[in-house]
Amino acid sequence: MVEKVKCELCGRETNYPIKKEFDGRIVNFCCHGCLGVFELDREENLLNQPPVEQDDKKKDIQDKK
Ligand SMILES: [Zn+2]
Repeated sequence: MVEKVKCELCGRETNYPIKKEFDGRIVNFCCHGCLGVFELDREENLLNQPPVEQDDKKKDIQDKK
């Protein structure tokens, strides 16, 4: 049985998704075009994040160790 997967970007269902891992999470896409747009959006989001938030996350990781 083939499982249909929805494209993370446009929501189109596909039997043969393009899988890509982001931050340990598998994300599915219907085509390389959607994958490329998703990667660009993600990079922009990372750049727009205030540096204070990233410092907090690093502290959390260090505390757990
Ligand atoms: Zn798509």
